[in-house]
Amino acid sequence: MSKGKFGKFGGAYVPDVLKSSLTKVEAAYERYINDPEFIKDLGILYAQYAGRPSVLYYARNMTADLGGAKIYLKREDLNHTGSHKINNVLGQALLAKKMGMKRLIAETGAGQHGVATATAATLLGMECDVYMGKEDMARQALNVYRMELHGAKVHSVTSGTATLSDAVDAAIEAWCASDEDTYYLLGSAVGPHPFPIMVRDFQAIIGREIKAQIREVEGRLPDSVIACVGGGSNAIGSFYEFVKDESVELIGCEAAGRGVNTDEHAAAITKGRPGTFHGMESYFVQDENGLSPVYSISAGLDYPGVGPEHAHLYDIGRAKYVPVTDDEAVVAFEYLARMEGIIPAIESAHAIAYAMKYAPTLGKDKIIVITVSGRGDKDVAAMARYRGMKMYE
Ligand SMILES: *Cc1c(COP(=O)(O)O)cnc(C)c1O
Repeated sequence: MSKGKFGKFGGAYVPDVLKSSLTKVEAAYERYINDPEFIKDLGILYAQYAGRPSVLYYARNMTADLGGAKIYLKREDLNHTGSHKINNVLGQALLAKKMGMKRLIAETGAGQHGVATATAATLLGMECDVYMGKEDMARQALNVYRMELHGAKVHSVTSGTATLSDAVDAAIEAWCASDEDTYYLLGSAVGPHPFPIMVRDFQAIIGREIKAQIREVEGRLPDSVIACVGGGSNAIGSFYEFVKDESVELIGCEAAGRGVNTDEHAAAITKGRPGTFHGMESYFVQDENGLSPVYSISAGLDYPGVGPEHAHLYDIGRAKYVPVTDDEAVVAFEYLARMEGIIPAIESAHAIAYAMKYAPTLGKDKIIVITVSGRGDKDVAAMARYRGMKMYE
């Protein structure tokens, strides 16, 4: 079966009860993704609600300070709700609406995807149920309240370790129980087919805009595109348009946490190996007992696997993946704030951190684009605490 395969990765490894739900989603996706009316409706939501196109900003202070390649920032942090997640959520929510669905369900760890889904549900007049581990709900009380403000119901999941993977199980169970009127909105380019392809297609607008914007200002393609990788949606969205442009180097930045030589990281490609979990074949951090616990200062990068298309791009040598530690990301978070007056999400700071090392090694005639996947307001209190300040949210 080649459907949903990226080389040897991807696929749809799910129990039989889920197959018919996935087939329905796949059929709808294939029907609408090239439908002129769907494209037009989504374009209106992107332009009038999300605020697209997002700016491509020439970071002149950072470029001068680092003394190498010219640096541009793709400002996904300026989107409504503060990150690239809205691109995917609006796409899938509109698809669900066209399918006649009445309810969106989602799982969330840190709460960012839950908030984005609740936002889209409100906008399109749908109900929304978000599944979240009890532990995560306590840690992310503000995001729980945000979802409730938008009218979503947040379900506390108490099984297992009461965190993200238990919330995924609970959401899938709820989907199986009511797939007639309910759509499961997955938050990254991971999981069984058709999610990795569909999420990539909704995020690919990032790379298409980068290409048009850089051509406009520089008259040529960039030499490198750099993005952080959790599940991999903002990275694949940034890369996809450039995969066929062999001159453009694609670099994904993985969370190395306290270091790739410790057990506390989430570097699925750097330290993981191929395996089949969460409905897909890809790279995962694992041991003989299955998935290993992962860690990153950044909740959005704290995932043991990576989307299957990244596994494939790595395998064929088209993209490279580099580890970035917590410490490096925090330094980059502070650096961008001071240098450009932009506070990036701590996830995005991983991409900034690698560029800070890389740009000075390149000539001034080279061009780097870094995707700033989100804004850092949500991380300010945690960064202050990281620096030893007593601060509470
Ligand atoms: C969720 C999130 C990420 C990680 O998700 P990807 O699917 O890897 O893009 C990165 N940055 C921000 C700001 C996020 O909210």
